[in-house]
This record gives sequence, structure tokens and C-alpha cells, in this order.
Amino acid sequence: MKVILKADDFRSSRNWERFINYLDKYGIKTSIGIIGGGYDVGSVLKLYKNGHELFNHGFSHAKNEFKRSYDLQKKSLIHTQSKLRSNGIVLQTFGAPCNDFNETTIKVVNDVEDIKVWLFGISDIYCLLYNREFKNKYSKKLVLENKIVPLIPHSHNILEHPTHNPDYDWFIKRMEELNDEEYLLIQLHPLSWNDKRFDIFKRSIDYMLNKNCEFLTPMEYYKFKEV
Ligand SMILES: [Zn+2]
Repeated sequence: MKVILKADDFRSSRNWERFINYLDKYGIKTSIGIIGGGYDVGSVLKLYKNGHELFNHGFSHAKNEFKRSYDLQKKSLIHTQSKLRSNGIVLQTFGAPCNDFNETTIKVVNDVEDIKVWLFGISDIYCLLYNREFKNKYSKKLVLENKIVPLIPHSHNILEHPTHNPDYDWFIKRMEELNDEEYLLIQLHPLSWNDKRFDIFKRSIDYMLNKNCEFLTPMEYYKFKEV
């Protein structure tokens, strides 16, 4: 099974450092959500050079940033793209703050050429349940889904249950249930993890390594799907 890690809200901190160190120990690459309005350039460049994929996680991270008008959403997306570009990095993946979207977001994301992958965007299952037929014709991006709750992606994920709180028993159950999925996208918030939570994260990584899961970044998965 392929596993794509989505770590949100990068901030230079001890919590982030130990998270990255643990992954680096096993050569695992993660995707990392960068908020365009505030980040430490040196730390971000270091992560990028180490092979982790940075993704566009909005500009302000304000509530409803991606539930506004076309112009305002586009501004947020483009501002973060431009800031990272000035650091020599082209972001190719987008994941909205709080995984928010409205129908306008489809067009906004479509209109940003650099973006190839949309994490927890408007998915097939969402369209099916809402009787929308347009998805693949309409969204030009590769949408990676939350396999457990596509309609409320921000409430629970495979490890954090609820968000910010890794839960090992929940994780094991979900991994067993989702065993036949081609990929899993696992959302993480390392900044919120105390020692106990971090320990659960480590155990979950060990579990996936034992299961021979293959860790990919969103763009690695995109390239795999393109072939
Ligand atoms: Zn966030």
C-alpha cells in the first residue's frame, strides 16, 4: 500500500524538528504545508533540500480562507506560490487550511497551472454522494481523498482522531479496514504533539514500515499515476 503523509502548519519548533528527524532516520519523505504569510525561509529551504515536498497551505490560514470569492481565494493561492517562488521553490500541491473549499475553489485551483495535486479536494466520492457528475471533467487536478470520511475530511483522519490527536487503536482499525486501498493520505499536525502523541506517531510509522507500506510524496504519487 502507498502512504502519503500530509503534515500541516509548518513552524520552526522542537516538535517539528523531532518529527522530521524521525522520518529522516528511515528515509521517509513527507509533504509539508507552508503558510505563505509566515514561515522561516532557512528552515523551509532545508526541508526542501532534504527531499520533502512543500505544499501550498494558504496565505493567512484564516477561517474560511477558501470559502470566499474567486478573487480572494485566487489571491491567497497565488501569494503563497509567489513567495515560495522567490525562494526558488515551485509548489505543485495544494491543501487548504482546515481542508475548506466551496465550488469556486475548483475553478481557482484549476486556474493555477503549477498546481498538480489537491489534497482533500473535491473528490469522486463527494461528487457521487452529492450527485455531481462533473468531477473529472471539471477538476483538472489529481484529488487525493480522505478514505474514511470524504465529506468531512477535517474531522477525523487515519491517525489523528480527532484532528491533532494521534490515536493508536483507531489507527490500527482503520489500517485493517482500508487494507485494499491503493493509497492512504494521512494528515498530521506535529506542532500539537506532546511526548505521548509523538510516541503514538512513532509506533504508527513502525507499524507501516513492518507492513511494507511505500511512502510517497503527493508529486511522487502524481508521477506514478501519470505513467
Ligand atoms: Zn492548517
